[in-house]
Amino acid sequence: MRLTHWIDGESRDASSGRWLDVHDPATAQPYAQVAAGDARDVDAAIAAAQRAFPAWSSLPNSERARWMERLADALEARLDDFAKAEARDGGKPLKLARDIEIPRAVSNLRFFAHAATQFASESHHGQAGLNYTLRQALGVVGTISPWNLPLYLFTWKIAPALAAGNTVVAKPSEITPASAAMLGELAAEIGFPKGVLNIVHGLGPDVGEPLVIDARTKAISFTGSTAVGKRIATLAAPLLKKVSLELGGKNPTIVFADSDWERNLDTIVRSAFQNSGQICLCGSRLLIERRIYAEFRDAFVERATALKIGDPMEADVDLGPLVSQAHFDKVVGAIERAKQEGGQVRCGGQALQRPGWFVAPTVIDGLGPDCATNRDEIFGPVATLQSFEDDDDALHRANAGDYGLAASVWTRDLARAHRFAAQLHCGIVWINTWLMRDLRTPFGGMGQSGLGREGGLEAMRFFTEPRNVGIAL
Ligand code: NAD
Repeated sequence: MRLTHWIDGESRDASSGRWLDVHDPATAQPYAQVAAGDARDVDAAIAAAQRAFPAWSSLPNSERARWMERLADALEARLDDFAKAEARDGGKPLKLARDIEIPRAVSNLRFFAHAATQFASESHHGQAGLNYTLRQALGVVGTISPWNLPLYLFTWKIAPALAAGNTVVAKPSEITPASAAMLGELAAEIGFPKGVLNIVHGLGPDVGEPLVIDARTKAISFTGSTAVGKRIATLAAPLLKKVSLELGGKNPTIVFADSDWERNLDTIVRSAFQNSGQICLCGSRLLIERRIYAEFRDAFVERATALKIGDPMEADVDLGPLVSQAHFDKVVGAIERAKQEGGQVRCGGQALQRPGWFVAPTVIDGLGPDCATNRDEIFGPVATLQSFEDDDDALHRANAGDYGLAASVWTRDLARAHRFAAQLHCGIVWINTWLMRDLRTPFGGMGQSGLGREGGLEAMRFFTEPRNVGIAL
């Protein structure tokens, strides 16, 4: 199988004529190839997007919304095929792709189709006169997305960009290109206006960088690692280009003795291990109040050990393999480092003896807040446990570190919940829940977790340029 670019509504091979292997993480074998794009393909895609911009941006909002609805409908009709494709090239459990992630991609398109018809700008009435704000599309924008939630995050970016009237050049991860390539094909099948959504595959430096440094792209929306986010910020800075950066995380899960933790244990375990811990929002650092520590640890380890790890295509599998050899090596290396730092492995701690990149759910304790294990993002099925004495200690440990994406707090004390919500250094706080998403809310992190927010109005504002118009009265 060969996965091609989609440029100007057409399937295109890479200008270089080269292909990259795409692997099935459950077998570690290549199963497809993807076009190895470079600056020439990016150039063609940007040119197509520029040609398409005047017509797309001047369509009535309701017409743009209708196109996005059609794409959402077509995707929903093929949901199973997309879910299987993602389970295959990302190694994620099929049920996760089918029940949550592909439906969420459909919702992203529908949500921002509605946003296109609802978005409005402000006016300010003053004594001197009236000011109103025009919110106009930027032009051609670039989106760069990661492998962990391939279509979910791909659509999370293209949907607001398109709704606001921009045309898009989108770069999916070269590690999981299948569902984006299929979406390009679907768009062509339903006659989506040519050049409005262009998809260019390939390696980050070969495709992502030309997209960032091209003066014709007016904004870059990126989700991925902090290291690459910094590289993009560096490249975009001299151009004063708008960037949105959604980066890594090392999220605390804070469990108080007064919480209903036994009843919520499945959710807390899921928050650590969903998608094998390869979700930026996973709670990989658990902080447990000392008086319930031993009891919690034993129950948590028991549930983690009971998770079924195996072929992602099997219906009852909880965890599939990690996405790539490089990521597998990184996660296994992080477990070794935790041992060297003095961590005690309570369960897991090793790769499975089978083909593919499988790592057993791993729980580690005995480490303080300042070691690398508790500071660096691992992004695998590895959770650490620490105990804390009181609220101050919990807050200190939770805020130790450079990331600031998300946190969950488990307590029945309302005042404490509000206090933590206000004092945690992160962009998203969940109280007695995890991954509760409402697409209208601001989404993103602070510190090393990124710059800017996505979601709802934040995304519509990012993808438009405000212009103030003052009229004397
Ligand atoms: P990555 O940074 O390696 O790659 C992300 C994308 O950037 C890919 O498409 C890649 O090809 C591209 N890229 C790589 N080098 C580039 C360069 N020099 N210039 C331009 N583009 C380049 O990240 P990943 O390994 O695919 O994803 C995992 C990371 O993403 C984790 O750190 C995770 O926390 C983060 N993430 C964050 C969020 C969030 O919302 N904050 C969501 C999901 C994942």
